[in-house]
Amino acid sequence: MKKLSLFFALVLILPALFFAGCQTQEETSAYSIWLDYDAASHTAEANLQVDYVNNSENAFDEILFHLYPNAFSEEAEGSVCSPANENKTYPNGKSYGGITISSVLVSGQNSGFKLEGEDRSLLSVPLFEQLYPGERVLIDIAFSLTLPNANHRFGYGENATNFANFYPIACVYRDGEGFVTDAYTSNGDPFFSDCSDYEVSVTYDSSFLIACSGDSVETTQNAEKKTSKISAKNVRDFAFVLSEKFSQISDFAGDVKVDYFYYNDEDATSSLATATKAIECYSEMFGSYPYSSFAVVQTNFVHGGMEYPQLVMISDTVKGVDYDYVIAHETAHQWWYGVVGNDEFNEAWLDESLTEYSTALFFEKHSEYGISYQQMTSGARSNYNLFLKTYKAIKGEIDTSMNRALDEFDTEPEYVNNIYTRGIIMFDTLREQIGERRLFSALSAYFEKFSFKNATTADFVQVFEEKCGRKMEGFFYSWLLGEVVFIEMN
Ligand SMILES: [Zn+2]
Repeated sequence: MKKLSLFFALVLILPALFFAGCQTQEETSAYSIWLDYDAASHTAEANLQVDYVNNSENAFDEILFHLYPNAFSEEAEGSVCSPANENKTYPNGKSYGGITISSVLVSGQNSGFKLEGEDRSLLSVPLFEQLYPGERVLIDIAFSLTLPNANHRFGYGENATNFANFYPIACVYRDGEGFVTDAYTSNGDPFFSDCSDYEVSVTYDSSFLIACSGDSVETTQNAEKKTSKISAKNVRDFAFVLSEKFSQISDFAGDVKVDYFYYNDEDATSSLATATKAIECYSEMFGSYPYSSFAVVQTNFVHGGMEYPQLVMISDTVKGVDYDYVIAHETAHQWWYGVVGNDEFNEAWLDESLTEYSTALFFEKHSEYGISYQQMTSGARSNYNLFLKTYKAIKGEIDTSMNRALDEFDTEPEYVNNIYTRGIIMFDTLREQIGERRLFSALSAYFEKFSFKNATTADFVQVFEEKCGRKMEGFFYSWLLGEVVFIEMN
């Protein structure tokens, strides 16, 4: 994600924007989703069938699913946005939504499911027998959705309707730990999932266009409704956006079809060109984009943008070169989060810091935007120092660690400055120390080794140690644990 932050906006010379997995599976779980959206009531009826494969080394007799839409419910204890973003998220006043599970079948038999966890955002599905490593089980979940009037991942706004994190998705099972069940937070992107195959059928008003993860296989239409059948292979999530205001233009980045959906962009061709150049640039730097299509979607969204596999949301409130900046940032997430996954709740730095640094690399290669690498790195240093001074003055002391869970950052500026800003400085310092050739070689190796898997901080460090032929723990952990405090004092 790229977040917008007032603190950062006041101090940053650069665009004042902040944004905001898969085991190597011999076999992949498969999700089939049927969804019928009623735009008048902002509700949907849906069915999900998961052909779930146990890729762990353990047997278990229940499967846990995240129900992220319940973070948007009236009963939810936390908020989906920080207090500072409340009005931007809910311009028409607070609005609620959620997901209701009506039935669960396991291998065709009714199963006594339970809603658990904070905000009832976990679905526990008991299995009738142990599921052993390598075994599969078929789970059918009937559910309905109510979308809030919210400029957020899940919700409808003035211009578009965002369906993201909208269906039950299996929690990642970690050997020795069990299912990873961290709940939704307003900070960051609190998601963690394995790559799976998706077949999705969405029915919606015929006046709408759909932008989606994956490839549209076919669309049928009658006077009132359209049905799109979509296929997305080896992706860690699936999202779509509907709007009756969408225009669509397309181009190719090599073999990758790049679609741009927009309703308010006087320079749409240029925005599409940025997305196309970003796919080409990151493919060259890190490794080829493995999917055949990529959708950049302008929509109503509280932050600058948001990433999903093969689809990124770009907020319609972002203007000028900042808009290109958000496109470049969200597109970099296709590599870091999308293809190489990670636990975004507990190790947000792993995709977010690397994505923000990759964005600096994009602008280094593309001087036509007038944002130089030097500007970005020196700007990050002065901004981070200002953040330290300001926060020290207010709070007395400050935690500068990066590898914290999302709910361990007290405030949004603390999260943004330690993950995005400090992330750029860390990678720039790394480049100074190991050289450009080793840096790119290690990032390419990391991409290749962990494509369609979930990586950890230890995995990342190990790849760098292999490529540099020396211990790198000292470097990374001094940054991640917050031991490198002052970058430079002016
Ligand atoms: Zn991001």
